[in-house]
Amino acid sequence: MPTIQIDATKGAKKLPTHAKVVVVGGGVVGCSILFHLAKFGWKDSVLLERDELTSGSSWHAAGGIHTISSDPNISRLQSYTINLYKEIEELSGQSVGLHQTGGFYAASTKEWYDYLKGERSKARYMRLDQEFISPKELAERHPLIDPDHYHAVLWDAQDGHLDPSGTTYAFAKAARAHGAQYFTHCGATAMTQRPDGSWDIVTPKGSINAEHVVNCGGLWAREVGHMAGINLPVQPMEHHYLITEPMDEVVNFGQQLPHGIDFEANVYCRQEGQGMLLGTYEAKATPWKVGGTPWDFGHELLPPDLDRVADRLETAFERLPAMANAGIKDVINGPFTFGPDGNPLIGPVPGMHNYWVAVGVMAGFCQGGGVGLTLAEWMIDGEPSIDVWAMDVARFGEFATPDWGSIKSSENYERRFVMTFPNETLPKGRKQKTTALYDRMIAKGAVMDQSFGLEHVLWFGDGPDDAHEIPTFERNRSHDYVGREIKAVREAVGGIEIANFAKHEFKGAGARDFLNHILAGYVPKPGRLTLTPMLTPKGKLYGDLTVACLAEDHFMLFGSGVMQEAHRRWFEKDLPTGIAYVNASDDWHGIALSGPKSRELLARITRDDVSAEAFKFRDVRQTFVGGVPVIINRISFSGELGYEIYCKPQYLMRLADAIEEAGADLGFRWYGARALLSMRLEKGWGVWTMEYRPDFNAVESGMDVFINWKKDFIGKEATLTARNEGVSQKLLTMVIDTDGIDVVHDEAILKDGTPVGYVSSGGYAHHVGQSMAMGYVAAEFASPGTTLQVEILGRLYDAEVLSGPIYDANGVYMRS
Ligand SMILES: Cc1cc2nc3c(=O)[nH]c(=O)nc-3n(C[C@H](O)[C@H](O)[C@H](O)COP(=O)(O)OP(=O)(O)OC[C@H]3O[C@@H](n4cnc5c(N)ncnc54)[C@H](O)[C@@H]3O)c2cc1C
Repeated sequence: MPTIQIDATKGAKKLPTHAKVVVVGGGVVGCSILFHLAKFGWKDSVLLERDELTSGSSWHAAGGIHTISSDPNISRLQSYTINLYKEIEELSGQSVGLHQTGGFYAASTKEWYDYLKGERSKARYMRLDQEFISPKELAERHPLIDPDHYHAVLWDAQDGHLDPSGTTYAFAKAARAHGAQYFTHCGATAMTQRPDGSWDIVTPKGSINAEHVVNCGGLWAREVGHMAGINLPVQPMEHHYLITEPMDEVVNFGQQLPHGIDFEANVYCRQEGQGMLLGTYEAKATPWKVGGTPWDFGHELLPPDLDRVADRLETAFERLPAMANAGIKDVINGPFTFGPDGNPLIGPVPGMHNYWVAVGVMAGFCQGGGVGLTLAEWMIDGEPSIDVWAMDVARFGEFATPDWGSIKSSENYERRFVMTFPNETLPKGRKQKTTALYDRMIAKGAVMDQSFGLEHVLWFGDGPDDAHEIPTFERNRSHDYVGREIKAVREAVGGIEIANFAKHEFKGAGARDFLNHILAGYVPKPGRLTLTPMLTPKGKLYGDLTVACLAEDHFMLFGSGVMQEAHRRWFEKDLPTGIAYVNASDDWHGIALSGPKSRELLARITRDDVSAEAFKFRDVRQTFVGGVPVIINRISFSGELGYEIYCKPQYLMRLADAIEEAGADLGFRWYGARALLSMRLEKGWGVWTMEYRPDFNAVESGMDVFINWKKDFIGKEATLTARNEGVSQKLLTMVIDTDGIDVVHDEAILKDGTPVGYVSSGGYAHHVGQSMAMGYVAAEFASPGTTLQVEILGRLYDAEVLSGPIYDANGVYMRS
């Protein structure tokens, strides 16, 4: 059982009146952040805890630690977390009770075996220590297991378990050893911001002023957020595990049993003393205190309700038969906090100044170290050392209301050990945001997904009854339908909704200078468009944006929809006075037309001269199309002649009517995101969050071709260094020799059996009839013509590096 510790410093010190940082919350996450801040030099950091340390969910965690995560960078941070435990133990003199027993992930179905093969492939290029062992070998390492239930087992030597309370104290004491301070029985009861941006935090022991505040409130994250006027979409959930009486099978084994997860049975287990600990995520989640966590909740547990987990325990006992006869010593039901997609929400909150969060950390003992590292780097260096998009609080915007947060967090809890196939979309919290065309698209057979809260079309079946997926790791049932959409675009004309592109509007006399400073590329003249990377001071990619100059002092930037709040945060950080900036993404919906007949279609519904001479590639215009006011960009992401037509949401239906009517005899067809992503592969164009992300710089990604070297811009020095010294990895496009299967992302790329990189994205390129992928590999293997292998579901497929776009290499169609 976790140990509860009494804090000897209680009441001993006087709260200072000022600190560089105040961390609110002394669970494992807050203590890890305090430790990292102090270790990296911000010793003037103070943690406030309303009770004793560990008084939220940290004290009653099951203490399991493992590296597997859906996001590779989170896996890396989990590996960092586990490796950190020895350091904090030595520094603090406080045992963390680490048992690095190794851990297993047991697959009892072919699908789970396939999933684990994908995990193994990721581990391969991340150099994590994972290997497949046979069920028989597992039974030798864990004699309670009945191996007959399993196909295969993935083994990770880093996994194990620890003492949650000891670990939290070790972080806190190690932070103190580095010069930070923590105060218990000193809860934040209110906080206000001064005009200089610093925060006054009120506690029963007086007020403390701090430059930065970090909300690590865990179970009370929402309430601590309210003190600063924000609503965080996180939700505590009830969770059960049980502990058995000592078992002969455990005692007689003579060594620690490994940690383990059986996804299909939906259980995790580990040794606890001389017995076993076994936990499960119920099929029907029980959100706890939806209306708010009471302040008087302390070191308490919730009444157990074994009926809720009975079916799961039955399956578990079939797989660990000795447990069926073991006495139950304890049943723990405790709450812990989930985010809408199961990953933490960390970083500076968009729209706030010096207000940071590290909340919704549902696996604090696997991830707490990595969260602390990342947040400290972000606060001190201005950016984390690796891309932490999967944890960035900015991936949620206004749409992520408390209600939506509870619904999605519950869904995530229920699906914690449930397979999500690459072609599957999650059902809960849908239709949070829709466009005026939603019903029309559904009636036409659209299969939708949600992105930044907004519904958008993936592909079209033959009417609503045909609009469904069959979950699979292989080529899915949308394949031929997507091919049909692409044929229409490549041969005639297609239309896709573009409400989900971000739009950022800048107005003011200083806008051009500001954009020249923050963007690495060219800022266009009035009436023109440019494509530009946006870089961090360390030269990492932070955006790939289309810039439209509507007037000398009026610009519209188009970019990744999911990054819109992260970009807003970036733009607002150092926005000079006199420039009006707004994230206008919801103010502009629209339709992109693509295909050789798109000009003919457009000409039918506008009075403008849209001939090739009058409306050139990369022109932008404010005009009227289909009788409604629009902005048109003459560009396309399909590689065809094309136009992005943006209108105010209230005009979208009218615009769509006009397009459908005018396009009927031209072969017009609506298409979805899957078709678009396939077509851009044929052009070798990357996508934000996949190819383009802060893990890479402009030279590695090839985005340096868009840089305007004649000016100064953020990240110039670092990019010049990368250009002059060369880079060790490069983005490439490959064709792969597969049969009925394509990459998704995060597959290992190998050269002669040795991992040399990873797949960032890919799929089937319908027009050229090839399976394709993009990815980053060691620079020496990126030359055109190099043969590599890609690992898909455990099989190696030959791949060849391309020298350029496989379709319309010189961009003739696009410019026509
Ligand atoms: C039954 C169960 C089993 C689990 N098993 C595992 C596991 O095996 N592995 C794993 O990695 N994770 C596990 N977890 C999850 C883990 O416990 C959490 O991820 C972790 O505790 C989150 O830590 P935290 O610091 O974010 O939040 P918390 O532990 O909730 O800490 C928040 C702290 O903030 C303090 N606080 C709140 N408001 C204020 C205020 N206004 N002023 C000052 N202080 C304040 C609280 O008193 C509390 O101490 C489990 C959780 C449960 C419930």
